[in-house]
Amino acid sequence: MSDERADLPHDARSVDDIVLRGADAIDALRALLARGPAAVLTGAGCSTESGIPDYRGEGTRRRARNPVQHRAVLHEAEARQRYWARSTVGWPRFAAAVPNPAHHALAALEAQGCLTGIITQNVDGLHRAAGSRQVVELHGALANVRCLACGTRETRRALQVRLEQDNPGFLTRDDVMLADGDAELPEAATAGFRVPACLSCRGTLKPDVVFFGDSVPRDVVDAARGLLERAASLMVVGSSLAVYSGLRFVRWAHARGCPVAIVNLGPTRGDPLATLLVDGRAGVLLPALCLAVHGRPDEHGRPDEHGRPAVPLSRR
Ligand SMILES: [Zn+2]
Repeated sequence: MSDERADLPHDARSVDDIVLRGADAIDALRALLARGPAAVLTGAGCSTESGIPDYRGEGTRRRARNPVQHRAVLHEAEARQRYWARSTVGWPRFAAAVPNPAHHALAALEAQGCLTGIITQNVDGLHRAAGSRQVVELHGALANVRCLACGTRETRRALQVRLEQDNPGFLTRDDVMLADGDAELPEAATAGFRVPACLSCRGTLKPDVVFFGDSVPRDVVDAARGLLERAASLMVVGSSLAVYSGLRFVRWAHARGCPVAIVNLGPTRGDPLATLLVDGRAGVLLPALCLAVHGRPDEHGRPDEHGRPAVPLSRR
């Protein structure tokens, strides 16, 4: 075990010294995976190339000032009205998003035995859509809606039909059309919005996601820790680790002496605990890592990190 660690830039140095890019980064990540399967923790940066804005409201600076608060959505009718009005506008774009090369590369790495699974902070379902099997969704999934009173579930897709039926003409209003799903709607637009209720008991509906101020359910945390316990390392992809729900796994891995690699554009709160820091876009680096580990591109034949076209398997 200790011999294998010599392959990695493991000695804690100043953060600037260990930030890797390009081919050096791929080599170091490949050495990390050579130790055994990694657990992967993904954040919003993994989905930005799929055009997903951060619906939990804490990934971007603008939204960080005004996150969707758990208590408000639970207890304030106006907050629910604002949430569902905004969600009605944002949903079509969200629902149309498809996995990007980062998702495909992670699914391929898992299929090839390089990962124990994925712990994600994202609520977009794109890891499963890409074919990943072991996925723990820390913050739930926006595709599901749940009644807070009786627990009845409904798909968000079905609810969208009801939202649009209950609010005829809403999506075609000028002031609504001007604001995309990522923007605040004008107050006049949300004031008259009709909030949907549970079809069984007329109770309050909530998307099955963890809002700011809420906590991740215990069994979900346990499932995530299970993936980490079976892993030889933790690889963070596209998260600034701004919230504790993700950062805790970095702290936990570090405390166990489990190497932590962080692949992100820009610094993260976990950097001081990392073994390896990689600066770059997940959609570029992960397909290149796939190629380096297995000598071939991911199943979709994406170009490698230098933009070279994938070599056809028949020529290898
Ligand atoms: Zn109900």
